[in-house]
Amino acid sequence: QIFAPERTNSAGVNYQVATERAPLLTAMAPYFQKQWIARSLVQGQEHQPSARHPRYCPYDTSLLWAEVSYADETQCQLAIQQAEQYWPHWHAQDINTRAGLLNALADELEQQMAKLVALCQIEAGKTLADAVNEVREAVDFCRYYASQAQQLWQTEYGVEPWQHLTFERQGRGVFVCICPWNFPLAILVGQVCAALVSGNCVVVKPAPQTCVIAYEAITLMHKIGVPLGALQLILGDAAQGQWLCQQPELAGVAFTGSLLSAKSIQQQLTQHIGAQPPQLIAETAGINCMIVDSTAHLEQVTADVISGAFYSAGQRCSATRILCVQEDIAAALMVLIQGAMLELNIGPADQISTDIGPLIDAAALEKIQRQLTTFEQAGQLLFRTPMDANLNGHFMAPSLFELPTLQQLSEEIFGPVLFVHRFKKSQLDDLVSAINDSGFGLTCAIHSRNQSLMNQLSSRLQVGNIYLNKAQTGAVVGVQPFGGKGLSGTGPKAGGPHYLTAFSQQYCSSAEL
Ligand code: GLU
Repeated sequence: QIFAPERTNSAGVNYQVATERAPLLTAMAPYFQKQWIARSLVQGQEHQPSARHPRYCPYDTSLLWAEVSYADETQCQLAIQQAEQYWPHWHAQDINTRAGLLNALADELEQQMAKLVALCQIEAGKTLADAVNEVREAVDFCRYYASQAQQLWQTEYGVEPWQHLTFERQGRGVFVCICPWNFPLAILVGQVCAALVSGNCVVVKPAPQTCVIAYEAITLMHKIGVPLGALQLILGDAAQGQWLCQQPELAGVAFTGSLLSAKSIQQQLTQHIGAQPPQLIAETAGINCMIVDSTAHLEQVTADVISGAFYSAGQRCSATRILCVQEDIAAALMVLIQGAMLELNIGPADQISTDIGPLIDAAALEKIQRQLTTFEQAGQLLFRTPMDANLNGHFMAPSLFELPTLQQLSEEIFGPVLFVHRFKKSQLDDLVSAINDSGFGLTCAIHSRNQSLMNQLSSRLQVGNIYLNKAQTGAVVGVQPFGGKGLSGTGPKAGGPHYLTAFSQQYCSSAEL
């Protein structure tokens, strides 16, 4: 069956053309001057803060730009209660009303492009390219899920000789959406819109690092008409997330983040006692490989390695972590990759010349440095991009390490770090087995000009997304449904035709004719 979605992806702003970029940068400027705040929103009411948390910009740690405050238990309780109370109204709404809200949100996000791009830079440290694409992806999720819902929610009829059947789809109840900082707008909007349009009420708990973007996004949703009862925002850290997941009446949790957090949520959900265990839709880590054989086009491989491993400072779960290269061409490829790494500009996210922005925070930088110690001590560092020592943020230079065996890398390193593993042609089968044995299964890229080899490898690899002769990051909504297997996720693919079915249930009624 051919998967041919009807779609129009958001055009965004072409930041590479100076005449398009200049007006965007001008419109963004005031947002960099502002002092921002973020509070929880329960029934649209701002929570009066008890403890306030200052926020410093990841690429200029002297810049105090925002203050956020976390919800206490009373607020969390109220948010769940309000969502539960509103659910009967919300799921009884006509599907066109709910889908219409998503389309209105898409238009509003496009109109607010300058503000949202500025926030993605100042709060999440995104480069201009990444920040524009972030807003485009959020818009795409809205429009795609709106059109999917309108198709899926059509009542289906069936007539048997002796009975009349009706199939209808309904939301499940209250969903908690726990959203990551690496796609603070796109993934949040994607999860929340999927849950809402499917007829669920939502309590959102964003990552503590990106509360302001979440606050602005939820405010926009309320502004375009999403009812206050259907959508509550709880700001906080792991404690608030845990509390929400323990609530007995939950219908489900949508989560994107670390494997450790996903495991703890899963544990909490299995302790629920009730007629139906809450649904967990989780998207977690990957130790993603790119396999390059001796027939590959080395310039193409180099471009895809640089963008897949180092762009976004490697802070994508889909990023290239291990480059598995056939030894015959390894030396030639290393020369090209190191040459390209030398050209990368590491710098503040708001500078147009920057290729690699900062990591999200000091804790992320420290964790990666700790994870790399054993590899450095073993002398496995091959190359590191030179970096200006005066940068004032959580910067990390792209680094290249040798990896003699795949097993040596057993956890995801969420930064601009690439490992190189050399294999002999005769070892290709074992290589695929080793990749599958890792237990992770998110993305894999294959670079080769041998089509039958690519087919053969693709059929054996146990990963959610395979990319042939292209970079393995940047899945496009409606084109490359995204999501992993095994330790990488529970299955439903974001931006794909079956995603909404995980947020809903189908009912069948039969009547005697
Ligand atoms: N969907 C994103 C991509 O393809 C990655 C999402 C994530 O990092 O959570 O690059």
